[in-house]
Amino acid sequence: MIYADNAATTAMSKKAIHAMLPYLDEVYGNPSSLYAFGQKAKEALEAARGRIAACLGCEAREITFTSGGSESDNQAIMTAAALGEKKGRKHIISTAFEHHAVLHTLEKLKKRGFEITLLPVHENGIVTAKQVAEAIREDTCLVTVMYANNEIGTIQPVSEIGAVCREKGVLFHSDAVQAAGHLPVNVNEQKIDMLSLSAHKFHGPKGIGVLYAKRGILLESIISGGAQERGKRAGTENLAAIVGMAAALEEACAEIDNNAKRLTALRDRLIAGLNKIPYSELNGDAGKRLPGNVNFCFEGIEGESLLLLLDDKGICASSGSACTSGSLDPSHVLLAIGRPHEVAHGSLRLTLGENTTEDEVDYMIQAVTEVVTYLRNMSPFWRDLSTGRRPHVFAE
Ligand SMILES: *Cc1c(COP(=O)(O)O)cnc(C)c1O
Repeated sequence: MIYADNAATTAMSKKAIHAMLPYLDEVYGNPSSLYAFGQKAKEALEAARGRIAACLGCEAREITFTSGGSESDNQAIMTAAALGEKKGRKHIISTAFEHHAVLHTLEKLKKRGFEITLLPVHENGIVTAKQVAEAIREDTCLVTVMYANNEIGTIQPVSEIGAVCREKGVLFHSDAVQAAGHLPVNVNEQKIDMLSLSAHKFHGPKGIGVLYAKRGILLESIISGGAQERGKRAGTENLAAIVGMAAALEEACAEIDNNAKRLTALRDRLIAGLNKIPYSELNGDAGKRLPGNVNFCFEGIEGESLLLLLDDKGICASSGSACTSGSLDPSHVLLAIGRPHEVAHGSLRLTLGENTTEDEVDYMIQAVTEVVTYLRNMSPFWRDLSTGRRPHVFAE
């Protein structure tokens, strides 16, 4: 089997698994308990917090543990909304191609009277700091722009956006779930006020994440209960997962340059191979994208059939986001960069990981080329295109 869906989730690192084992087994105390056995768990919890803070360039007390990227995004946005509401500032700026954890939270706020500006995304999959600057108003309480897109992998100019927001006194949140462990993150240098990350996207366990919030930002609890996480996130801590996440993040950050170099070479080899398929086009900027992300549209192809046939050839791939697969709507990300509906349906995302080999890349090029040719030969839509009854979208 070839696993090429690392944007959906990643294999756990052996170091992370080993780091977790004692906390699944003998060290099972509750960090909130006062006896020494509980305090041993508490020490491990705080050590993990410190190690994660060091990876992000912040202080330990600025780290809150959550159940993952979705919860962190929800809590960051609800916090900014609560703070904004107190000051009568009810305008939020985001982008049209955010993850649904952001977009659906913003829709909820819209029903509560917030005004939401979703910035359009350029054809290359990037939003500029200038767009953000022009959209900021007196009543803007939050700018939330993702660090790297989960479908097309494009990297956003978060440092520039952070500088604009800091200058105008507006909170800046970034969903860095795809970036953390893969691209450099330093929340102070990048002027990021709140940042979300999720362990299972960088070889850590599932169901655990972090919300970084700059000192002085009073987080709004979205789960009520006990006083864990300084009263900002109730519920007994998932200590084993937290320890595993710290180990995975440290490992990923130590290897960021090496992994990026190796993955970029594999990515570009795959892109060059798939570019040879006629009437196909890469989605998103060719250079400003995650080292492991490849996302193509093929004219005359229906994405679901492509995935099933690739599965038969042992390749785990995706048509876009794991969250939208199963729905028949084309990806909101591909529509946001201006792909027409009929082309957006024929998309394929292959996301490489630290375990991907050059032989696997070559096999993927061969398999995708074969499957696309096979499906096109069967498709009446393709016949219309090749006989000129419908116009082509892409050049050959
Ligand atoms: C995966 C992902 C999320 C959701 O993270 P979970 O930990 O699965 O809840 C949010 N944003 C982006 C960009 C993602 O890729």
